[in-house]
Amino acid sequence: LKTLRLLLGDQLNHQHSWFKEEQENLHYVFMEMRQETDYVKHHIQKVIGFFSAMREFAEYLKEREHEVIYLKINDKKNKQTLPENLKQVISEYRIEKFEYQLPDEYRLDVQLKDFCSELTIETEAYDTEHFLTSREDLTNFYKGKKEMTMEYFYRDMRKKYDVLMVNSKDPEGGKWNFDKSNRKKWNGKPEIPHERGFRKDVSALLQEVGKAGIKTFGSLDAEKFNWPTSREDSLSVLNYFSKNLLVHFGDFQDALHTKQAYLFHSRLSFALNSKMLHPKEVIDSVIGYWRENKDEIDISQVEGFVRQILGWREYMRGIYWKEMPGYGKSNKLDNQNKLPEFYWTANTKMNCLKHSIQQSLDNAYAHHIQRLMITGNYALLTQTHPNEVDAWYLGIYIDAIEWVEITNTRGMSQFADGGIVATKPYVSSGSYINKMSNYCKGCEYDVKKKTGENSCPFNSLYWNFLDDKREFFKDNRRMAMMLNMLDKKSEDELFRIKERANAIIQNPENF
Ligand code: FAD
Ligand code: SF4
Repeated sequence: LKTLRLLLGDQLNHQHSWFKEEQENLHYVFMEMRQETDYVKHHIQKVIGFFSAMREFAEYLKEREHEVIYLKINDKKNKQTLPENLKQVISEYRIEKFEYQLPDEYRLDVQLKDFCSELTIETEAYDTEHFLTSREDLTNFYKGKKEMTMEYFYRDMRKKYDVLMVNSKDPEGGKWNFDKSNRKKWNGKPEIPHERGFRKDVSALLQEVGKAGIKTFGSLDAEKFNWPTSREDSLSVLNYFSKNLLVHFGDFQDALHTKQAYLFHSRLSFALNSKMLHPKEVIDSVIGYWRENKDEIDISQVEGFVRQILGWREYMRGIYWKEMPGYGKSNKLDNQNKLPEFYWTANTKMNCLKHSIQQSLDNAYAHHIQRLMITGNYALLTQTHPNEVDAWYLGIYIDAIEWVEITNTRGMSQFADGGIVATKPYVSSGSYINKMSNYCKGCEYDVKKKTGENSCPFNSLYWNFLDDKREFFKDNRRMAMMLNMLDKKSEDELFRIKERANAIIQNPENF
């Protein structure tokens, strides 16, 4: 049968079994579409990153004698939506069977199912052969359990894949989790090796995107695009990480710094989420490097890294498929405020937010603690509607694909799911930020002050949040200590805290 196989922008898995088969009568189709560039406003580097990686993968397939149909964004024939384009290709090439890989986004899953149900030709869906769990594995794992603590899922994954295990039974190093040793502040030492950059010229593609009239935001140096867009690039980011950054990955995982956007983070998320790299190959490669260099690298650095990929990444995917589509609408804390305008400009006097947002606008990247404890923390403390928060996170980061963005944003960061992912909200006053960063030193606000003119906004916002949401958290054991402390505040102090917090919430642009 003459068969058409669809490849979505985040299905660039070079090692998929599709490409190992006899290739007669097979056509692969890639499409750059307004449906994908416009469902949310994306960072320009995200659009360029995905289009470049798709084009390079298409070339890779052509070089290996595969038949490839590629619809570029400005092609006259491009109808800009998935069903319209597919209908056209199927008719033009007289296709007799349509095949696709299961999408990771609910939106596309529904769209493709609907499309297939209307087709008169045969259709078949395949696994992407990327994840280490199926869509349903997590649901089955937690069946009958009250809480879905990630740690137990992670331990099970370690056993299942025999990762960092002794005799497939006990955790290597005697512990499952070395998180406690991963909490250091970075003060300029140890030195961070020079950035691994690609410096690609993407000017021509940038022009095409401009000509198409796609609305984007953020900045891009078109002669020095730094993200991996091929498998070769992706492998070099992976090797660079093991050789240069792994040694301190765990130590400084939670650190924040004005001058260092990346610290010891791997920047592998785009290569992973577009599937240019497989999670197991990343884990094996990093562990392999560690085994050869055990004298220099402590197990805590490696375990911390493995937990992110084997644990958190798979866990978030499982939560997504367990909870969608309802998850996309959840707002258990009933937060209703608008996201401040400065999230799009970095124009704020709060130094921590200014730096985290500016780095995001410049690089389409922020590391986990910037996302969670700076921008996410502030959005939650100011009781911002999760739809607004989601739209921002989904647009700004090069790695943002809904299955992993929404679970991290609505779930882990905004507690909008009421506690499925996190057992308590990730909120903090300025003191945590001061402990982990150098932001407060250069800030107009005084991190030690709770109220009054130049007091750190995070301080009053924090206690105001607890007071506003007291009823919601009253039975949460993990919140008991903080609510106790809140109760000890005098009426007068609480009044001044709430006055300051409300002034910030009502006029965020003034701060
Ligand atoms: P590293 O710190 O080097 O970690 C290695 C890898 O572990 C990452 O590449 C990633 O694949 C995985 N990982 C780490 N933490 C998580 C996590 N919490 N969930 C899933 N995978 C994880 N990650 C995305 O890939 N896409 C998103 O859209 C996204 N949105 C986020 C939104 C918020 C509010 C928060 C708090 C986190 C979000 N994350 C997201 C998770 C995490 O912040 C990023 O994966 C990470 O910062 C990517 O940088 P890195 O590759 O240098 O990661
Ligand atoms: Fe952020 Fe407050 Fe520190 Fe300023 S003082 S950097 S607002 S935490």
